[in-house]
Amino acid sequence: MIKKIAIIGGGIAGLTAAIGLKHSGFAITVFEKAKQFSPLGGDIPLWPNGLRVLDKFGLYQKIKAKSGCYPFISIGNEAGDLISKTMVDDFHKIAPYDPINICRHELQAIQLAALESEEIILDKTCIRIEETEEHVIAHFHDGSKFAADLLIGADGAFSFIRNHIEPEYKLEYTGYLSLGGISELPYHIRHNLIFGQYLSGNFPVDGNKHMIFFICKHADCDIHQTYPLLADQLGLFRNHAPILNEMLDNLEQSINKNHGLKNYFFVKNYNLQPLNRWSKNRIVLISDAAHLVGSILGCATSVSLEGVEMLIECLNQSPDNYSIALKKYEVLHKPRATRLLSLERKLAEMLNKNELGDYPSFSDDLISCLKSY
Ligand SMILES: Cc1cc2nc3c(=O)[nH]c(=O)nc-3n(C[C@H](O)[C@H](O)[C@H](O)COP(=O)(O)OP(=O)(O)OC[C@H]3O[C@@H](n4cnc5c(N)ncnc54)[C@H](O)[C@@H]3O)c2cc1C
Repeated sequence: MIKKIAIIGGGIAGLTAAIGLKHSGFAITVFEKAKQFSPLGGDIPLWPNGLRVLDKFGLYQKIKAKSGCYPFISIGNEAGDLISKTMVDDFHKIAPYDPINICRHELQAIQLAALESEEIILDKTCIRIEETEEHVIAHFHDGSKFAADLLIGADGAFSFIRNHIEPEYKLEYTGYLSLGGISELPYHIRHNLIFGQYLSGNFPVDGNKHMIFFICKHADCDIHQTYPLLADQLGLFRNHAPILNEMLDNLEQSINKNHGLKNYFFVKNYNLQPLNRWSKNRIVLISDAAHLVGSILGCATSVSLEGVEMLIECLNQSPDNYSIALKKYEVLHKPRATRLLSLERKLAEMLNKNELGDYPSFSDDLISCLKSY
């Protein structure tokens, strides 16, 4: 019988899993390697499929109150011409919620408020896993350990738990860098997404604040070592189109005004081939630890949240037999993640070849993929 669950990683997926499992009556403990929850990152886009899950766990109204919404997604090129426009009503085919964007730290604060402080233990880096007949035991960097009936690996893209289950799978650099943050927007920007030599986007998050992001090609290197200064990191995205430079200037000013508050992200994007399995005995992977899908599409977190919901459903249906529950979770969620991965690669190819005329039919495919669970 599964009762006690250890969750490794207190990111968005780990915290959502903790909240959902608690609702279902499981005893959960989250172990997070960070010493504190700091306001890190830019924004998180939440699509109807993810909002449905957050609503089920009682978080939707609070999240909506702190988010920005938009009537349509308009896509243009660097010259300002319209490529396509999708009304938010189209997203209702997925689930009856408008897509929204929220600052990552606001979402994190809402999630943390739904948990008791003793349910989250900070400064615990999982460095080893031991399996016995009855338990799975997580060992931490400080010599402590925790025995549970089930262990959930929610430790993100660079997952240690994934290495325990599928050690031969490695992350591959896609050739793209991302930069994003929260800023005011130059008033004359007409499109939410701008496709050109690189992809850029802007969506309202709260009040007059927008999340702004850029994705550009760059050769593989140790990015943070090569570009330790923020100005140099921003420089990588400059000089493609004047309109984008203005967005970058605003973002730079906003970051500098925030005196060290890291409300932006600058990361390399990685591919992960679909894993052969997401679980082994009493250990199971969720979200970025299991699948890196949807970040270019904009629905990564929402797909992760659906996976969390699916895992909880399966555990609720078979609490006495974890191996059936974990198998079922994989059978149900993996095909969707794999299909989205192929759509993501298609979009990357369209961007690469600058062939965006097909975007409207691509967008239809994406929406129909997300609605068919
Ligand atoms: C600091 C940060 C900022 C981000 N900013 C953005 C953003 O602005 N926009 C965006 O779209 N996405 C952002 N992301 C990524 C985004 O949160 C995830 O892609 C998505 O929400 C899925 O979340 P996740 O919980 O699977 O992974 P993550 O959010 O990456 O969370 C994984 C967690 O596991 C912890 N962890 C890792 N290894 C161990 C270990 N061995 N033991 C214990 N804990 C461990 C990490 O510290 C982290 O808190 C950010 C991620 C992080 C960690």
